[in-house]
This record gives sequence, structure tokens and C-alpha cells, in this order.
Amino acid sequence: MSRLGIFGGTFDPVHVGHLAIASAALESVPLDRVLFVPAKRSPLKDRLPLASEADRLTMLEAAIAGEPRFSVSRAELEREGPSYTADTLERLAGRVEQDQLFLILGGDAVVDFERWHRPDRIVQLATLLVAARPGAPDPVEGERRLVFDAPRLDISSRELRARALRGRSLRYLVPDAVWRHIEEHGLYRAMETTPRTT
Ligand code: ATP
Repeated sequence: MSRLGIFGGTFDPVHVGHLAIASAALESVPLDRVLFVPAKRSPLKDRLPLASEADRLTMLEAAIAGEPRFSVSRAELEREGPSYTADTLERLAGRVEQDQLFLILGGDAVVDFERWHRPDRIVQLATLLVAARPGAPDPVEGERRLVFDAPRLDISSRELRARALRGRSLRYLVPDAVWRHIEEHGLYRAMETTPRTT
């Protein structure tokens, strides 16, 4: 039975924090593969992603290109409405019956977990794997919930978008190919930054 990590997020943009914890999960849990699942829209975020779906997907694919155990799923981008992890896991579980599923989360995301759509169903389908994150309470283990050894990197997409808006470089904070894509397309430079609720 192979061990598959599912890593959901808006990845707006994907950054070295995401990649470092996914890599740590491969190594320390360990996992055989990690599937990154960009969300169309995160149900608990009060704003829509700034970059287009195509740009977020291109950046994610470029970011993982060097690691054969990483792949990207378009499942949530192809589905209408907010992206519920429970639905994604439900579909995946039906498709990859031979795999044991793990859901990778940062310490901030696990704080909200009970407010997610169908949290009980999520933990029936997958074991939660939590990485500590600076600024969030240290996660604790529990039933179907493991804390794994990952580097604590104080970096967030929000902070990177704000840097780019000020005209600052994101080089070394995102993989080179992602940085080039952001530069070439002028992403996050003059994009709408006021919170949206739809
Ligand atoms: P934003 O700043 O836009 O809210 P983010 O940096 O938190 O974005 P997301 O794409 O929303 O990134 O995160 C996807 C998942 O990755 C979440 O589970 C989040 O907790 C986790 N994550 C993101 N950055 C880190 C980090 N530096 N350390 C640990 N976990 C992280």
C-alpha cells in the first residue's frame, strides 16, 4: 500500500515554505508521494486568489518539476464552487483504493479544522499531518492527527504578495521558475488588493 500525501492550498503563489514542508513529509513521515491540490476558492478565506487559476497552476507545476514524487491535481479547479477538502478526498479515495491517504496542513490551518466542511468525514478518509508554523500555536497530536518534523519557515503567500506589490523581489522566496513567471507576467504588482467577499 502506498502512502499518499494530499496538500491543498491556494498557492497564490506557491513558496519555499510549501515545498519545504511537503519535502519534509516525504522524508519524515514518510510518504511515497505528495499531490498538491490548488483550490478554486478556499471556503474559509474572505478573498479570492489574486492570480488566475492558470497562473497558479503554471507556478505550481514549475515549482514541483524537479521532484518526481510531487504532482499537481486539477480536481478542485475543475469543480464549481468553493473547494471542500472532504469532496476532494472522497473522490480520491474512490480512485486510489490501494493508497493510504494523509492530509498535510500547517499549524494555522489545523486551528480552524473543526470549522471545515465535514471534518469527521475528512479524518475517516485521511490521517492529518500537521507541520508547525511560526505565528500559529504548536500543533498537538491526537487521534488520526500526527505532527511531523518540518522546518519552521516564517513565510506566507500573503506576505509575498505584499512584497511584490511594493515592487520588491520574491527571488529565493519562491523557486526560480516561479519567480521568473511572476516577473515576466507582472503578477501581484498592480493587482486588486482590497478584500473581496465573493
Ligand atoms: P496566504 O498567506 O495567502 O493565506 P499561505 O502562505 O498560508 O497563504 P496557502 O496556500 O493558503 O498558503 O497554504 C496551504 C497550506 O500550506 C495550509 O495548510 C498552510 O497552513 C500551509 N502552509 C503555508 N505556508 C506554510 C509555512 N510557512 N509553514 C507551514 N505550513 C504552511
